[in-house]
Amino acid sequence: MATLSITGGQVLLPDGTVTRADVLIDPDGGEILEVGTDIAGADETLDASDSLVTPGFVNGHSHVAMTLLRGYADDKPLDAWLQEDIWPAEGELTGEDVRIGAELGLLEMIKGGTTAFTDMYFEMPEVVDAVDRAGLRARLGHGVVTVVKDDAGAREDLETSLAFAREYDGAADGRISTAFMPHSLTTVGREYLEEFVPKARDAGVPVHYHANETADEVTPIVESEGVRPLAYAAELGMLEPEDFVAHGVHVDESEIGLLAEAGTGVIHCPASNMKLASGMAPVQRMLEEGVTVGLGTDGAASNNDLSMLDEARDAAMIGKLAAEDASAVPAERVVELLTHDTADAIGLESGRLEEGAPADLAVIDLEEPHLTPAHDLASHLAYAAAASDVRHTICDGQVLMRDREVLTLDEDAVLERAGEAADALAARVEE
Ligand SMILES: [Zn+2]
Repeated sequence: MATLSITGGQVLLPDGTVTRADVLIDPDGGEILEVGTDIAGADETLDASDSLVTPGFVNGHSHVAMTLLRGYADDKPLDAWLQEDIWPAEGELTGEDVRIGAELGLLEMIKGGTTAFTDMYFEMPEVVDAVDRAGLRARLGHGVVTVVKDDAGAREDLETSLAFAREYDGAADGRISTAFMPHSLTTVGREYLEEFVPKARDAGVPVHYHANETADEVTPIVESEGVRPLAYAAELGMLEPEDFVAHGVHVDESEIGLLAEAGTGVIHCPASNMKLASGMAPVQRMLEEGVTVGLGTDGAASNNDLSMLDEARDAAMIGKLAAEDASAVPAERVVELLTHDTADAIGLESGRLEEGAPADLAVIDLEEPHLTPAHDLASHLAYAAAASDVRHTICDGQVLMRDREVLTLDEDAVLERAGEAADALAARVEE
């Protein structure tokens, strides 16, 4: 067995402490063999001196091909932004655009130390192909919207999501998992959820959807169903321990209780919530009640980047504002959200540097003005580190980026193709 050792760094352990240690991994098995101080004789080494070795970051909710729409439309509320700009542009997206946008997003994630993510979009086999080649870990699903479709169109969309989830679960040597992904509780009709959620259970895949993102999303459900959205989701069997929702901004105490009791994860997307002025999720309250909270970037068009380190800082900041308490959502808790809590929420085994765990890691260069001095490295991870500080990224034991050079994707070619595809897309929308 050829082994790889990441040497000379400080290592963030699962209990949140940081210690000087090397990390020995088995690239073939994709597993961490040992975290220790006297590891010798590895076949290959990766230098981590003056660096922090952390679990790879986990992005719990994204629409990765939306990178092609980065900066395309900003500064509008969610409804107007979707209807006037995003949906018309998405209507013009081809399968090839989705693949090119996904490659751009994966390149950005690797360069920012992200090793696992959730994606909800369409033309998902293209995303599978990109993930397979880029080397990340992912939970993927086809997003279903039925409200603008006739019954035949709605059913076709639902069947596509179910078929994708069945076919690709375990793809890319097990790095890809899937989920059934109805877009949200307001964009997929009740009769369809009643019929298809049990089918997802039969297929053995979780359900992932947007919930309680804006106040405007809560009111129609209260009016039509007589209960708040997450009580409605519970009625439909969509609050199982393996399920996870995106956003959870406008959740009341009863809904926080439902989430905690069910063990359903919530992916907090603070940058998107701020940019679309959706509101402030009560993250501290959810943490106090024992809800599994993770972090996500959402799509690049509402963020506008895929940096999980930015997301961590935003989560800490907005968490304090929402709680009106500077001690809320503290740095050490944010670091947990950034790593193993998000992995737990989306049901992937990742986010912990320990023997036997998947070898998913990021190595962060600490020799930077904004990371000096080093009183508390958890604080730096939550508040000061940037995506551009990531030196190496490793997923499933494979080195995806070494000294800022991405090894699995051709960076120049990806950037060129993305620029061309985005320009052509904008031109088609103009016509
Ligand atoms: Zn989203």
